[in-house]
Amino acid sequence: MRSVLVAAYGASALVAALPAVLAFRRRHRAALCGPLALLLVAATEWCAAQAASVAVGSADLAVAFNYAIYPAVAAVTAGSLWYSRVVADRPALSARAKRLLWIHPIALIAVVATDQWHHLFYLATAASADKPLAVQPGPLYWLHVAYCYTVLCFVYVRLVRAAIHAVARQRRILVYSIVAGLAPLAGNVATLVLGGRAQTLDLTPILFVVTGALWCWIERYGAAGRDVPIAYNRVLAAIGDAVMVLDADGRFLDVNPAAARLLAGLGRGNGTVIGRDWRQVVGSELTALLTGPDQRVVTAADGRILDVRIVRMDGDRRHYGGSVVVIRDVTELERLRAALAEQARCDPLTNAHNRRHLAEVLEQETAAAAATGAPLSVVLLDIDHFKQINDGYGHAEGDRVLVRLVDELRSAAPADATVARYGGEEFVVVLPSSDVCAAADQAEQWRRRFAEIVVPTAQGPLRATFSAGIAQLVPDQEPEQLLCAADAALYAAKAAGRNRVVASQPGETSALLAAATVSA
Ligand code: GH3
Ligand code: MG
Ligand code: MG
Repeated sequence: MRSVLVAAYGASALVAALPAVLAFRRRHRAALCGPLALLLVAATEWCAAQAASVAVGSADLAVAFNYAIYPAVAAVTAGSLWYSRVVADRPALSARAKRLLWIHPIALIAVVATDQWHHLFYLATAASADKPLAVQPGPLYWLHVAYCYTVLCFVYVRLVRAAIHAVARQRRILVYSIVAGLAPLAGNVATLVLGGRAQTLDLTPILFVVTGALWCWIERYGAAGRDVPIAYNRVLAAIGDAVMVLDADGRFLDVNPAAARLLAGLGRGNGTVIGRDWRQVVGSELTALLTGPDQRVVTAADGRILDVRIVRMDGDRRHYGGSVVVIRDVTELERLRAALAEQARCDPLTNAHNRRHLAEVLEQETAAAAATGAPLSVVLLDIDHFKQINDGYGHAEGDRVLVRLVDELRSAAPADATVARYGGEEFVVVLPSSDVCAAADQAEQWRRRFAEIVVPTAQGPLRATFSAGIAQLVPDQEPEQLLCAADAALYAAKAAGRNRVVASQPGETSALLAAATVSA
């Protein structure tokens, strides 16, 4: 029996040693290798101590090797705790947490090394050359066992909870981890129930080797250690959005290629930015982003329009804090959006604003005029005998006349004026801050200039004129009423012989007011 036990423990120690060395060598490259190295080194030591305890002939040495098992048990427990944290939660384990992990193994070394004097771990040991080592557990032994079980229960609860909330691929890894981790627990329960604690067969260390080997396999070939981070890196490298990871102090931890290009384009991120302060790398227009709202559009110093989103990782004991900044260059998108919005406001033939936009402008301007008391006038113009122009010169030449009229109106209009096509050959010019006299003067200038234009056509020179009606907003007047007043004045201008400007007196909408007529 002894030789079987020695062979089983010795083989397990050898089996555990190889992945232990491999995991230890990769501990800085893969987050799971740190806990796996600890777990497997401890499992190796546990198996080796078990083997030695059984193999040695001396009773004292058997007891000494038996004591040597327990710091390894504590380290295996700590390794399991660390593994569960990495696989279920996040890779980073703070230096403080790592120090805490060592408390139990180191305390156990102290306890078992001094047990000969206080007998709090083993109340008594009975060893002889021909009989298996028998021990009587003391209070510290049970405390140690209770602690290990509590930790392992916590490990399983953590893994199960993580598996419930994980995405499909990650969940498979967690389920594998849980199943692999159950083996030593079952072995330990079986060993405890069967009463073996010394030189009878203890399956626990052997099954911990199995668990460690399976967890190594998961780390090496499972998605948790390799595929997912690689996939994320590839995605981050491929996307056009700039993604930057900053720590809690605003220092760059990572940037994807698009972010490196963006920062270089801003002229401040040449060379590596990792480790540098956000405030020193980006311009003043972006400096305040980290403390502002989580989403906003900003204009960089070079005129680029940037859509900035901040994903904050709130700092607490478990999170390190910091933020992920995602920046999308929306300059072209904004330009297209503005162009489309402008197109939706314009008449395609003349490029004057359309009637819908005119309605919006009139709504705004009448409200502003009512609020400020500033004057507001409209000019309604209609080309004279336009039908005859179409008939005589063709529709295409008629179109050119319309375009030419809009060009003339725009070239001589005040900056705040709105020129809109109201109907086929009818146009409205909104003149904020102009009273009826100023508007009539302005319209008269347009009328004179337009009448002088000669458009050469295949059918000979083409001249056109227009008639115009002017109206000024009166208190409590609606935009439609203002246009009605201008229309009445236009009607009067047509009736008076065309090619003239008629101004409506404020409040009057229909009469032909000769006094206000600025005739041709
Ligand atoms: P009045 O002096 O009384 O305004 O006479 P008019 O001929 O200008 O008025 P009328 O309303 O009889 O005719 C307007 C014409 O404008 C009729 C229509 O074919 C023409 N028209 C409307 N829209 C367009 C356009 O986009 N292009 C061209 N070329 N003609 C148009
Ligand atoms: Mg007309
Ligand atoms: Mg007309």
